[in-house]
This record gives sequence, structure tokens and C-alpha cells, in this order.
Amino acid sequence: MSKRFAYDVIIAGAGPAGAMCALACARAGLRTSLLEANAASSHGKTIAIEVEHSAFAACDLPEPGGDEIAFHARGAKTMAPSGKFAFEIAPDPAFPVKQEVLTRRLLSYAKRDGAEIQYGSRVDEPLLDRNCVRGVRVHTAGGKSREMTARVVVDATGYASAIVRRLPAECGIDFVDREEDRVIAEARLYRIDRRAVERAARDGRFAPEYTYFRLGTQGAYSTLGFMISLERETAFLLSGFKIDQLPPTPGEALDRLASELGCLTEPFHTGSGMIRIRRASLRLVGDGFATVGEAASMVVPMGASGVTSGMLAGRALGQHLGQVLKRGGLVSTKDLWPWCAAYQRGRGAVLASYDANRRVLETLDPQRELETLATSGVMTGEDMQRTFLVLPLRQSFSTLGARLRGGLRNPLLMAKLAPGFFRVMQVEAYWRRFPLRWDEPAFVAWKKTAERLLP
Ligand SMILES: Cc1cc2nc3c(=O)[nH]c(=O)nc-3n(C[C@H](O)[C@H](O)[C@H](O)COP(=O)(O)OP(=O)(O)OC[C@H]3O[C@@H](n4cnc5c(N)ncnc54)[C@H](O)[C@@H]3O)c2cc1C
Repeated sequence: MSKRFAYDVIIAGAGPAGAMCALACARAGLRTSLLEANAASSHGKTIAIEVEHSAFAACDLPEPGGDEIAFHARGAKTMAPSGKFAFEIAPDPAFPVKQEVLTRRLLSYAKRDGAEIQYGSRVDEPLLDRNCVRGVRVHTAGGKSREMTARVVVDATGYASAIVRRLPAECGIDFVDREEDRVIAEARLYRIDRRAVERAARDGRFAPEYTYFRLGTQGAYSTLGFMISLERETAFLLSGFKIDQLPPTPGEALDRLASELGCLTEPFHTGSGMIRIRRASLRLVGDGFATVGEAASMVVPMGASGVTSGMLAGRALGQHLGQVLKRGGLVSTKDLWPWCAAYQRGRGAVLASYDANRRVLETLDPQRELETLATSGVMTGEDMQRTFLVLPLRQSFSTLGARLRGGLRNPLLMAKLAPGFFRVMQVEAYWRRFPLRWDEPAFVAWKKTAERLLP
């Protein structure tokens, strides 16, 4: 390690992305400091979330178990805006986990492998040497401000995007924060009145152990869902609305849903927050700097994209830093670029295509057009399954017949959707051609078209 720097890597934000990055850096033998604004005692989002099954094997981690698991779902049933059943996916392709328990587990691995974790340390701004990031200014728990230096600084501060939003334009990171790209979401776990649940299930109001998602209750890109488990004596409620779809707020919608279900007692695990749903920043790295997880918008608010994306990208970044920092010397954009290109050509391409898809769905009238899309056969459980697993939006041969029949019955809707779906495919294909090596003019040319395809 160069003597000029206190650390090899400083990571701001100890969520799933920062924790996985710290773990991979520590395993690579790097002197790693993870700075978290919260105190250790209050750290971690108390929300029940879905994480892709494959994320754990891909990150070389044991699967979740015990108290980390929020509930078990046998499958998910999707309802159209009217409440009519649309389609089902089974089994549940993700683990429903308590995010704060998962995060604490990842942090315990990072600490065991040598990462230093400093709670109560809020990163206020980057330290810059011309346009190179050389460290951070930190507000400590004792109310002091101090400077910490590192060869690479990683912004993993989630929605706050604390560093990336403070970088001058000359650093080249294109962080964009728009109201129309924000969702506010709330998740709650409730205890249940077992007898009332059994009665409601007998009356056919719902099937226990299945998640129900209702599309478009507050505009095309909104979701409201619940799951009631007799096995765990727990109910899970979730809502997510874009900012321009309020009121009611997600909390108000969940109060109403809980009262309609009529078989829940008190909530015991609740959390809410904002999610930025725009495609990831195009350039994720600068000189001495990288951004990962939700700070870089690596999330779409469907299925399990946020936490899994942060874990996978955080780990890949840590491993890449392990190779780059071994070489010694300052770390440039060119050194970090291969990680950025691998993300954009892989998961980034799929999430960008989902963002394009979101923008198509937002043009639909929920009561008429989204209802038809969900119930006519044009949209199927296969689409939902692929979205949950962040797989490219493709149609298998087995669903083609139903889709064609649905399309023929609704030619006007199809004519409206066709250009949008063509754009979805075009975006994915274009992102897969993200420049492999750092070449500023080539990137500027690529970016120009990317911003036209997906502003
Ligand atoms: C109600 C709800 C339901 C959700 N459901 C799902 C789901 O089912 N599946 C899914 O994948 N995702 C879900 N998400 C989104 C998911 O929670 C995020 O995508 C995920 O937490 C992002 O991980 P991250 O590590 O990038 O950031 P975060 O988890 O947000 O972690 C960032 C960390 O940085 C810290 N921090 C912030 N500012 C600073 C600073 N200045 N200095 C130091 N530290 C700082 C924060 O305290 C935090 O600990 C949901 C979100 C909500 C609100």
C-alpha cells in the first residue's frame, strides 16, 4: 500500500452493496474501511425484501435461514388493476428475508475477514486532488470532522448517493436525480389472528402461503401486495408507488389493506423508504472512485433486483479492486473500467431494458389498457418470473400462442405497445455493446445514443 494513503479502499455505506464490496476487498487482502452513518445498534433497514436464490451461491455465501427468513411463499399470484386474477408464478423464485438481518450477517463476514467497520461515521464529501478522488471528509459520532484518505473511494450509500451527487461535473459521473424516477415503498410484517385467517381462507378470499400482487392500483407502475402465512403465523404487506401517484401514501394504502383483510393483529417489523428506479448511471467509475448498489441506481422496484444487484456488483467490484490495487500506484478510470463495462454489459443491460419497459407501461391507462394487458394473455407469468430473476425479457415458445391470440383480440393496444417493446430490445442490445475499454471519445459517442434511447 502506498504510504500516502491511510487505506487501500474506503467504502461509504454499509448496506448489502457496501458490505459485500468490503467483504471481497478484505478477502483480497486490501486495507479496507467501511464507514456507516448509523450507529451499530440501529443499523440496517427493517424491511422484509426478496433476494434471488442464486445470489448466495454467486457470492459464495451460505443461504439465509432461521430468523433471517421473513416467511416462505409457495408462489405469487398477480392480479389485474380490477382485482381479477391474471397469472401465477410458482415456486417463489426469491428468498423473502429481513434485510437488516442479512446485512448484519454480511457485515460479520467482512469484519471476520479483516475489514474495519466504523459506525456513526457520516461521509460528508469527497476529498479531491484536481478531479481524482483521494479520500473523504467524515463527520464522526463524537461530532468531529476528519479527513480519511484511500487509493479508491466507493460510494455505496444507497438512495442518499452521498458522494456521487457531490462530485464536480469534471469527474465525468452522470448522476441524475429526477422526481419521476422515484418510488416510495413500505413493507410490514404482522402477527395474525389464526382463526380469522383460516375462516377467510375457507371462504376463498385468499390462499395462505401465496403472495398476491395487485398491479396498477395507483397508476401503471404501482404495486400493492400481501402474503399470509399460517405456517409462520405472519402476514407480509408491501406497497410501492411513484411519487407522482400519491396520495394515498404507501402507509395509508397498507392501513386500508390490513383493515380489508381483517385477520391481522399488530405489525411487528416495518420499514419504508425511497427507491430510485432509473437505469444505472452510465459511468460508474472515475479516477480513484466507483459507485455501486442503489447509489448507482442498480435497482428496479420489481422482484429482487435491488439487494441482489448490490451484492453481485459489490462483490465483483471488490474482487476487481483486489487485482488492480496489487499493481501499486494511483488508480485511474482506465483501471476501474473493466468492472464498469462488465456490469453494464451484463445485469446493467437487463435493468436498463426493464427501465425502458417501465416507461412503456407508464403510458398505459391502468383501468383499461393495463387491465387488458394483464388479463388477455399478452402478458404472462413468464414475464413476471423473468422480472423477478432479472432475466432478459424474452418470450418462450410455450407462451407464444396465448400472446398471439391476446394480441389479435386487442390490435389497438398492440399497435400502441409494439414500438415500446422494440425499444426495450434495442436498449438491451445497445447496453451489451458498452465500450469494453476506457476511451473517452468512444464512451462519449456511446453515451450520446444511450441517452437518446433511455433519457
Ligand atoms: C419498502 C421497501 C421494500 C423493498 N423491497 C425490496 C425487495 O423485495 N428486493 C430488493 O432487492 N430490494 C428491495 N428494496 C430496495 C432495497 O432495499 C435497496 O435496493 C437496497 O437496500 C440497496 O442496497 P444498497 O447497499 O445499495 O443501499 P442501502 O441498503 O440503502 O445501504 C446504504 C447505507 O449507506 C448508509 N449511508 C447513507 N448515507 C451515508 C453517508 N453519508 N455516510 C455513511 N453512510 C451512509 C445508510 O445508512 C445505509 O446503511 C426495497 C426497499 C424498500 C424501501
